[in-house]
Amino acid sequence: MKAGLESIKPNDSYSYLEFIAADELEGRDTATRGFTIARNYIKSLYKTWGIEPAGDKKDDARQFEQRIDMVEVAIGEETYIEVEAGPSALTFLWGTDFSGGMGVDMAGVIDAQAVFAGYGLTATDLNYDDFAGIDLENKIVVTSFGKPGGDREDSPFNAPENRARFAGRYTPAEKCARLAAAKGALALLIVDENVGHVSNAGGYRQGSRISSSRRTVVAPKLSDAIPRVPVFWASPAIADALFSQSGKTFEAVKNLIDKDLTPHSMDLPNAKVKLYLDVSRENTMSANLLGMVEGSDPKLKNEFVIIGAHLDHVGVNDDGYVFNGADDNGSGSVGVLQIAKALALNPVKPKRTILFAHWTGEEQGLVGSRYFVEYPTFPLSNIVACLNLDMICKDTPLSAIKEQIGDFDITEEELSSSYPNEPEKLFSAYTSSPSPIMEEYSVNLARDYFDLIAVPLSSYPVLGNSDHYPFAMRKIPSVFFNTEGHRDLHQPGDTIDKINKYKMAKLVKLTYLMAFTIADTEKRPEWK
Ligand SMILES: [Zn+2]
Repeated sequence: MKAGLESIKPNDSYSYLEFIAADELEGRDTATRGFTIARNYIKSLYKTWGIEPAGDKKDDARQFEQRIDMVEVAIGEETYIEVEAGPSALTFLWGTDFSGGMGVDMAGVIDAQAVFAGYGLTATDLNYDDFAGIDLENKIVVTSFGKPGGDREDSPFNAPENRARFAGRYTPAEKCARLAAAKGALALLIVDENVGHVSNAGGYRQGSRISSSRRTVVAPKLSDAIPRVPVFWASPAIADALFSQSGKTFEAVKNLIDKDLTPHSMDLPNAKVKLYLDVSRENTMSANLLGMVEGSDPKLKNEFVIIGAHLDHVGVNDDGYVFNGADDNGSGSVGVLQIAKALALNPVKPKRTILFAHWTGEEQGLVGSRYFVEYPTFPLSNIVACLNLDMICKDTPLSAIKEQIGDFDITEEELSSSYPNEPEKLFSAYTSSPSPIMEEYSVNLARDYFDLIAVPLSSYPVLGNSDHYPFAMRKIPSVFFNTEGHRDLHQPGDTIDKINKYKMAKLVKLTYLMAFTIADTEKRPEWK
C-alpha cells in the first residue's frame, strides 16, 4: 500500500484541481463542453496511468464512458406568474420571485385555480395527510417548504426514526410532485422564505443568492424521471397574493399547522394563477467516466469497491458568473483520480477490483449515479461497497456540522462536548447506520494516522444529498466523506484559492487506505 500512499501529495491535489476548477471549464455543467473537457482530461490521465476502462461495451471492448441520453430543458425570460386576486393583478418574475423548474416538460400557459396543501406531506403512519379533503384536479398546488412544527422537539416529524424522511430539499419535493401529479394537479409552487431575498446566504436555499444557470437536464431512461408536475420555489410574496382574497394569511395558516401538527389545507378561491412557461427542450447526452484497477485474486476480482465523486457542477449563469466548483466537487474528483493513480503505481493490487467513478448530473438530481445503479456496467450484486467523496477540501468549523445534524441521531450538546472546534481536522462521515467497520476505518484511522477527526453521522434511510444515496438505497454499504457546507456552496466564490490542500490530501489518503483494505479483506463489509 505504501508506494501508492506516498504518491498522494498535496501539491498534486492542487495542480489537478487547477485544471478541473479553471474558469475555462465554465463550471462543468452537465452535458456542456466544459464538463466533457474535464472528463476527457481525466480519461487521458487514466490512459497514461494504465487504468482500464469500466464503462459501456462497444464491439466487446470496454469504453471509459457510460453514455446517458438526456433532454435539456431551458427556462427562458418569458417565464412569469400572474396572480389575479380580486381587483388586483400582480406579476412575479422568474429568477426573482420564483426559481427552480424541476420536472417542467411543457411550454405554454397553465391557467388554473390555486389550492393550498400545507407542507405537501402524506404520512399515513403519523396520521397526517395534507392532501386529504382537498381537490387537486387541474389546480396549481401551493405548499410550504419544511415540515409541520419546524424544529419542535415534540413533533413526530422530528422523532429520531422519522427525521431523515422529512429532511432535505429535493426528496420531499419530488415525492410531493409525484403525489400531486397522481391527483391531477398541474404544477407545484413550494413557498420558501429565502426566495426573493438576495442577502440571505444560508445552505442550499435557491433564489437567495446569485442564482446559477437556467438549464435543467433530465435522463428520460431513469425509471423515476416522470411523471411529476413542474416544481417551482416561490417567494412569500406570491403566497401573500394568493391568500389575499381568502380572509386568511399564508403565515397564519402555516402557524396553525405548526401549532396543531394537523393539516389545514384549503382552497384559495378568487385567486387565479397564470403560469407562463417559456421552455425549450433539446435532446443531448452526457456520460459517466468509469475506470478500474483489476483485483489480484482470480475469484474476488469479479467483485468491486467503487470510489466515486461527481464531476459536474452548476455551470455559468446568464450574467456570466462562472461557478467553478473547486470544492464542489473538483476536490472529490481529484481525490478519485489520485487514488486511481496510487493504485496503478502500487506494485501490489488488492484482491477485489476497484472501480473509479466520475458521475455526471449530480447537481441535476444524482442523474449519473442513479443511472449507474439502474444500468450497471457490472452486476450490482458484485459491488461490495461505495465510497463517495463530495466536497473534501475545506476547513470545517464545528458550527457547520451543527447545521447538518438536525437530521441525525446526535444532539448539538453531544457534538459540542465530544468534538473540539478544530476546523482543519474535522470532517463528516455519513453512513446508513452505525457500524464497527466505519469506526475502524474512518474514525480510528483518521485519528491515528492523519490527525483528522471524523464525526460519524448515520441515519436510515441515508439522506439523498450525494451520490452514495442510490447505492445505499440498494443496500450496498456506502460512506460519504464531506467537509461540510460553507458560504461559497453553489456560488461563484467556490474557487481554488480557498481550499486546504493538506487536509484534502489527508482525506484522499484515508479513502485510499479504506478502499484498499475493504478490497483486500476476504469478507465483504456488512453495513445496513
Ligand atoms: Zn457536490
